[in-house]
Amino acid sequence: MTNKKRLAVDMDEVIADSIARFQEWYGRDFQLELSRESLRGRPAADAVAPEHQAALREYPNAEGFFRDLPIIADSQEVLFELSKKYELFIATAAMEFPNSFVDKYNWLQQHFPFIHWRNFVFCGDKSILNADFLIDDNAYNFDGFHGEGLLFDAPHNAHETRYRRVHSWREVGEILL
Ligand SMILES: [Mg+2]
Repeated sequence: MTNKKRLAVDMDEVIADSIARFQEWYGRDFQLELSRESLRGRPAADAVAPEHQAALREYPNAEGFFRDLPIIADSQEVLFELSKKYELFIATAAMEFPNSFVDKYNWLQQHFPFIHWRNFVFCGDKSILNADFLIDDNAYNFDGFHGEGLLFDAPHNAHETRYRRVHSWREVGEILL
């Protein structure tokens, strides 16, 4: 046991840039650009023409979608510092996309080697989490969460106002370190 407070951190759009993969694959398949601005207040599939929406909805189910995703700026450095002060867990609702498991695991091992696999939580409903803080870009993951939710800024959550918003990992560090 430890007296440290417990911090849970989401993956997609918090430490892993999955929007970049949507942009990459949309360009590959349709030769069109998916701007971050067009994603404001809605999921990626809702930002494209109706005839392309089904394809975008399927992307996260496809093998390799979560492989080699870019890292969100400063997340490695700040989480390394936070890992000294907090009991740090990565909590991702991976069950939504079963093909993501191995890619997510490998990605964490490669880019966040200071986080032990015991602290990886691949889950479904995040209300099962028992932590003091949860950093997540999806406000619905704070429903039923008993700690404090910090909403990590992302285009799709632009209109969400119920939770404290953090815009960068530098800002997370200023709040939690
Ligand atoms: Mg997320």
